[in-house]
Amino acid sequence: MSLRVCVLGSGSRGNSTWIRTDRTCLLVDAGFGRKETTARLSAVGESLESCKAILVSHEHQDHINGLRAVALRLKIPIYISAATRDVITWDSRFQTSGAFEIFTPGETFSIGDVEVHPLSIPHDAADPVAFTFEAEGLKAAVVTDLGYIPEVVKQRVRGCHCLVFESNHDIEMLRVGPYPWFVKQRVMSRHGHLSNNSTAQFLSEDYDGAAQVLVLAHLSETNNHPEIVRMTAVEALAQRSNGAFAAEERLESPPASQGTLWSRGHKSELHLATQNAPTPLFQF
Ligand SMILES: [Zn+2]
Ligand SMILES: [Zn+2]
Repeated sequence: MSLRVCVLGSGSRGNSTWIRTDRTCLLVDAGFGRKETTARLSAVGESLESCKAILVSHEHQDHINGLRAVALRLKIPIYISAATRDVITWDSRFQTSGAFEIFTPGETFSIGDVEVHPLSIPHDAADPVAFTFEAEGLKAAVVTDLGYIPEVVKQRVRGCHCLVFESNHDIEMLRVGPYPWFVKQRVMSRHGHLSNNSTAQFLSEDYDGAAQVLVLAHLSETNNHPEIVRMTAVEALAQRSNGAFAAEERLESPPASQGTLWSRGHKSELHLATQNAPTPLFQF
């Protein structure tokens, strides 16, 4: 039994994550076109043809750009909340039964051997959710597009082997950056996106340190810089005060092209998801 996770790409131009067990392959959001999704999967040795379902976190374009094309081509169901389905435009080809599987945020459901738990998150969309995935004791979560971190999210991401978590913007870069003021306000609001500092606070105060792989995602290309994201997260992880292994914590310099490693009894890796290329395929 294994659980594999690959963030195919993440940012304002497209988001999609591949989750698979030995039996079940899932796509979380379909922010890239069918060809691009296929190419990114084959770059990590995976095949879109094996995908059994697409899960939709919310209706923003960067999460559904390729949704209709991929679902129609593969003839696979779209797992979505009723409110999110109702704000997306569908053509007649989606009128067939089985096109949608409706979930309710907060209620666990199964796809094959994967237990999926959708969590309501604060974001300026109809009914946005984050997801946790569990299969045979292995756990992953995809948590992006939220303005702040509700308590239930902090609880639900405990024990993850792989945690994909938003670190969208640097507050100063956003403040002085080129966005119009109303957009800046939207991004910074409680229904916008998580800043590096909000994520750092989570990592130092609430995160349980259990993940073997932590992937920071949905980085803004305009209002953030990967090195700021990495440094802020590494500092926060070093300060983590609630972990049983805090005393043996030690930061190691990252090997070229690999994630930053920090040790805590077990090896943990920090990776940054990018817009243009998939992360490695992480296997647990
Ligand atoms: Zn997004
Ligand atoms: Zn969004």
